[in-house]
Amino acid sequence: MKLIQISQTGGPEELRLADADIPTPGPKHVLVRIGAAGVNFIDVYFRIGLYPAPLPFTPGNEGAGVIEAVGPDVTDFKVGDRVAWGMWRGSYAEYAAIPVAALVHLPDSVDFETGAAAMLQGMTAHYLSHSSFPLKKGDTCLIHAAAGGAGRLLVQMAKMLGATVYGTAGTDEKAAIAKSAGADEVIVYTRQDFVQEVKNLTGGKGVDVVYDSVGVDTFLKGLDIIRPRGMMVLFGQSSGAVPPFNPALLNQKGSLFLTRPSLAHHCLTKEELNGRASDVLNWIGEGKLELRIHKTYALGDAAQAHKDLEGRGTAGKLLLVN
Ligand code: NDP
Repeated sequence: MKLIQISQTGGPEELRLADADIPTPGPKHVLVRIGAAGVNFIDVYFRIGLYPAPLPFTPGNEGAGVIEAVGPDVTDFKVGDRVAWGMWRGSYAEYAAIPVAALVHLPDSVDFETGAAAMLQGMTAHYLSHSSFPLKKGDTCLIHAAAGGAGRLLVQMAKMLGATVYGTAGTDEKAAIAKSAGADEVIVYTRQDFVQEVKNLTGGKGVDVVYDSVGVDTFLKGLDIIRPRGMMVLFGQSSGAVPPFNPALLNQKGSLFLTRPSLAHHCLTKEELNGRASDVLNWIGEGKLELRIHKTYALGDAAQAHKDLEGRGTAGKLLLVN
């Protein structure tokens, strides 16, 4: 089978197509023939070594496909089942052995591309809006990179919960995409000062919560537009990691709360994983949540997909399809 392998961390050119034997699933694992794999910023972090992984490795935490074989001690899944996952590395491949603990069943109405596009960013938007800072009617939030894969889904869920949503986006075109997802106002933060704009929009009060996936370029400024005792949810670093800072700053800026969450800690049990995944997949099926597939690539074009994602030119999901 074909897979993408990273033998040393570095640029997109380190994503090399290689041959390998089809794996044999061990206990509580199944062999999945992968239909589509999601491309996410976390794959970039692993590729560059920001998040460590033993070398060589196959990147890709998200995918969907069909079970071709089951290992010992597998009870809830069988050959022929259509499945998806969002937290198991090795998805940039034609086949992978995946632990059943990471898998959910894919409803018949959801195809592999949709399944692979929904899991990681969808469940992330779910926990951010329902758990990290559970939004309710009347709340105000700022969502950075609101036209992005995770951002666009978060905008939609925040609106479902009744919040007023301000977004940021890098271009006018992306701003329109974020608006069409439901954002009330979108600030083009490459030419507008988002701090001033949010102050204007909130009458100087600030928002209840900032959801920041951009990191170093936006984090400190964001602390200036959160209301006293509001929350900064720093969930990514597309522009670079936030350096260490003095926690007294949170006091000075208004007794703020800060969290740096990850999806894994919000799917701690199979029940939690199934609950978030079924909400996301059901909302897609019911037309309440709309995915935007930006582009699909062949497996061998994984490097180009990473270049496009890091190049800031994408709006929505990138997929590798087999
Ligand atoms: P996106 O589709 O959001 O792509 C990243 C976007 O970030 C770009 O399109 C761009 O939008 C914006 N951006 C701002 N500055 C830069 C920069 N210097 N370089 C590149 N992009 C920049 O990607 P994902 O949806 O895959 O991920 C979004 C973020 O969410 C990532 O930071 C990721 O790590 C995080 N994440 C965190 C999870 C968690 O559980 N903690 C889980 C999933 C994702 P624009 O041009 O509009 O500014």
